Amino acid sequence: MIIWNKILKKSIYLCLVIFTSLSLVASSDNFKSVTGSNDIRLNENCLIQGASQNSTSQNRPCIFISPTPSPNLTPTPNLALPKKERFLASITNKLPSIPTPGSFEYIILRQYGAPFINFDSAIKLPQTVFFPNSQETRNYQASLVMGKVNSGNNCFLQKVAADAFNIADKQIDIPLKSGYGSSDCTRTYETNLRFWRKYTNNKTLERVKQGRETAILNVVAPPGTSQHLWGLAIDLRVSKPAQRKALNQNGWFQTVETDVPHWTYLGVPEEKLPEFGFNKKIVRGITYWLTPL
Ligand SMILES: [Zn+2]
Repeated sequence: MIIWNKILKKSIYLCLVIFTSLSLVASSDNFKSVTGSNDIRLNENCLIQGASQNSTSQNRPCIFISPTPSPNLTPTPNLALPKKERFLASITNKLPSIPTPGSFEYIILRQYGAPFINFDSAIKLPQTVFFPNSQETRNYQASLVMGKVNSGNNCFLQKVAADAFNIADKQIDIPLKSGYGSSDCTRTYETNLRFWRKYTNNKTLERVKQGRETAILNVVAPPGTSQHLWGLAIDLRVSKPAQRKALNQNGWFQTVETDVPHWTYLGVPEEKLPEFGFNKKIVRGITYWLTPL
């Protein structure tokens, strides 16, 4: 009787062990399949890897899972997409709406929209590609966290951009274009307007809006559209490859074709730029990274 009892206990124990093992295998399979199907869903529905579905807006199908994005967490875009779609997919969460091709906003986005590629939550991008007046520019600028560029007397940029520039400037001296300050760095709406009027007549803006004039955009930005309003651009006197290298390694690039002194803070490693769809164009020995729009 005792022997039968022992056999019965052993059988029950064995059954429990087998049942528990099977459950664990099943649950682990289940976990794998959930993760697997989740990955497929992300790839199908989200244009950027590492993003998750958000059904609140058709314009903004994806949000980033990470609550505190940083430059180190720069996502990898879906490389299966054409360049233009890849770029637009990467900036779709930054702008409330993507401008319609052919519109003035689209022309401005194509020309000056490179900084929208920045994924650092400490960088504040504008909610529109151009400010219609001085007041709206000031409201936006008042919301920025600014930092001082060490080499200028009165040169301020968004702090992340200023810090990155100061690191490059410490590696090798990089003088400001004017050698002094404010107009090389963050500008007011009035300064932007003054520069525009210096190079244009009162018909130029209309021609730009109609898409009949584009060359001027490489010389001066229309009122309310300059990257200098965003605290993410600086005008420099760069003459040595080592200066370019230091700037590039710290997230600074040239994004406006033939505007030689103008540098833009993108905060993305250079090797990532083609992944976001940027076109590399070399003009007279200078490398420009242009939006693919
Ligand atoms: Zn500039």
